[in-house]
Amino acid sequence: MRSVILAILILLPPTARADRDAARESYQQGNELFDQSRFADAAAAFARAIEADPKFFEAAYNHALADEMVDRKKAIVDWSKLAETAANAPDFKYQVGQADARVQILKMLPDYPDALQPSHYVPSASDYYSVIAEDSESDRWRQFPLKVWIGDVPNGNWAQGVREAFGIWKEMIPMELTPDPDEADIRFDWDTEQSMADGHAGEESDWVQFQRVGNDVTSRKVAHISIAQARNWSRDEMRAISLHELGHALGIRGHSPSKGDIMYWQVQEGRRRVPIPGVYYPLVIKSLVSKPSQRDLNTLIRLYNTPGVVTRMN
Ligand SMILES: [Zn+2]
Repeated sequence: MRSVILAILILLPPTARADRDAARESYQQGNELFDQSRFADAAAAFARAIEADPKFFEAAYNHALADEMVDRKKAIVDWSKLAETAANAPDFKYQVGQADARVQILKMLPDYPDALQPSHYVPSASDYYSVIAEDSESDRWRQFPLKVWIGDVPNGNWAQGVREAFGIWKEMIPMELTPDPDEADIRFDWDTEQSMADGHAGEESDWVQFQRVGNDVTSRKVAHISIAQARNWSRDEMRAISLHELGHALGIRGHSPSKGDIMYWQVQEGRRRVPIPGVYYPLVIKSLVSKPSQRDLNTLIRLYNTPGVVTRMN
């Protein structure tokens, strides 16, 4: 056995071995940077690894993944190249299939507004994409600005709260109010008291609306936000609830594990319908987040720019 190993070592020229070590080192750096959400730096490290060892397919895979959060065009080139160079590698068949699929999806993604471009991702704030990714997969909007119908808000305080929430999100994601409910992408419904009897503050669900135009039936997504009326919400509470439900409507199908995020509070209790005897929505009162955090935004940016959930290679 020992002689076999020696023979292999002798066959490899020393420079090739040095290159491989260098490639390994860059690969490891890339992985660490990727895990810190420093995607541009990670992509650069993976590029160095591939340069030192062009057959380092794991590095090429992670390189493409990092570039999705840097520049879509670069990512398309990366994945295509990987599919080509690894086409005959028996151990990489599955990943080559994934590379092909990601090229197709990336090519079909629409042009996003500036706010959703990867350049607005702030690495130091990181994200909770991995928590919501699986459920949020198919919920990206394709056309902006989104049209929002606020509807007939039952009282003035609430109307102010909802409008403030709309205004805050609008600063970040292009949306506009519409007076026509049939035209709305996102609509608030205020007559749903019955369905949320057990402590829900609000609820958001997507409906598919079918329309017949001539002989064609077209479908489109409409996000419905319902807010429980059983309680006398203050304006601040209404703003916080609306901010949160709008976050769901924008595509975040899950909740942040951190209290400072708009997609944190209320939720666990609300969505899973855990009754808290004698306490009606404690989190709403305790931790009113006044606007989406950079983590909330980072999560949206990652969701919109990542064509399907995969984890980096080890
Ligand atoms: Zn929620």
